[in-house]
Amino acid sequence: MFEAFQLPEEHVAVREAVRAVCDGKVAPNAAAADETGEFPQASYDALRAADFHAPHVPVEYGGAGADALATAIVIEEVARACASSSLIPAVNKLGTMPLLLAASDELKRRYLPPVAKGDAMFSYCLSEPEAGSDAAGMKTRAELDGDTWVLNGVKRWITNAGVSEYYTVFAVTDPAARSRGISAFVVEKSDPGVTFGAPEKKLGIKGSPTREVYFDDVRIPANRIIGEPGTGFGTAMRTLDHTRVTIAAQALGIAQGALDFALGYVQERKQFGKAIADFQGIQFMLADMGMKLEAARQLTYAAAGKSERGEKDLTYFGAAAKCFASDAAMQITTDAVQLLGGYGYTKDFPLERMMRDAKITQIYEGTNQVQRIVMARQLLNG
Ligand SMILES: Cc1cc2nc3c(=O)[nH]c(=O)nc-3n(C[C@H](O)[C@H](O)[C@H](O)COP(=O)(O)OP(=O)(O)OC[C@H]3O[C@@H](n4cnc5c(N)ncnc54)[C@H](O)[C@@H]3O)c2cc1C
Repeated sequence: MFEAFQLPEEHVAVREAVRAVCDGKVAPNAAAADETGEFPQASYDALRAADFHAPHVPVEYGGAGADALATAIVIEEVARACASSSLIPAVNKLGTMPLLLAASDELKRRYLPPVAKGDAMFSYCLSEPEAGSDAAGMKTRAELDGDTWVLNGVKRWITNAGVSEYYTVFAVTDPAARSRGISAFVVEKSDPGVTFGAPEKKLGIKGSPTREVYFDDVRIPANRIIGEPGTGFGTAMRTLDHTRVTIAAQALGIAQGALDFALGYVQERKQFGKAIADFQGIQFMLADMGMKLEAARQLTYAAAGKSERGEKDLTYFGAAAKCFASDAAMQITTDAVQLLGGYGYTKDFPLERMMRDAKITQIYEGTNQVQRIVMARQLLNG
């Protein structure tokens, strides 16, 4: 791999350590997770044993305390081996980020240590059947009844639903105030009234469960609110500013995995009496793939720096990194399939899986149309 900028030594060391775990204990499970649609528990166990399952959790809450760049590198390397498994560290960050940004210390002390230890995972419940890109149009309600909140509604497309112990749930507390009437809560899987839909049958990331979550008169203590009432939508959006960087990293990893595999293949495969890598038509494709990947990586790492430092233009950079890297991953994985010809189209090789897995990175945490809306708004409002 080329490095446009020298990474600090500790980040290089993180990459080497994750890659070793993933080559040995995550990549071997990737095809089976895709084939069976089952959560790759063995990969989770391997990531947990090496402390890569939720690396972003700060040291004061029992975590590894990885900065945003190190966390992105972990997710990138896991995705290079298995995109489904990369949603373990990615969604643990997505689910807990609202707490890190806005929760009371009491809530952080209660819910972050089990995630850091690997005893629990955390999911993020924003989307609903009728509220996707327009997330502020959500209908899930939370009403205060004495000293408990009562939640009713349906969340859709929730990654790791059913496997996760904890859920950040966004719900309307003041319907008249639209996005300023939304609040965030921590809900536990074991809270009475929480149930799950059947796993979605998906194009890719099949080893990552995606299910609906139903809230039927779910009563939770008043102190499970994250921040003040009415601040939930702001917390949801600030969370995505940070975690779009992790989706960009996931896209990078999927694309790197596809490029690495294709590079090996084109040097082995012979047609017309020579390796297909000797044909300039193939070389130009490889050059474009490498160029796009490196451009995506630099944008992603720059965005990770902004996430770590909490800079104001993170909203722009997070959207740009996610949009650019996911578009690049889709192009690179599609070209990688092409480089293997008919073999690329079969399950005998991992590239068709990588191409299917890449597609989701253009859709979730805001579609790439939505990222362009976010970027344009930032450009126009200076
Ligand atoms: C596998 C998977 C996992 C997911 N995980 C989670 C999760 O863990 N938590 C969670 O909360 N959500 C999750 N999501 C939901 C995801 O974020 C949404 O699917 C996404 O935001 C799009 O919403 P939608 O599917 O309702 O599409 P829609 O909003 O209905 O969009 C349909 C199309 O219209 C376009 N569109 C919409 N509005 C505009 C506009 N103003 N201008 C131009 N184009 C527009 C969109 O870009 C898209 O192409 C997940 C989704 C999937 C598929």
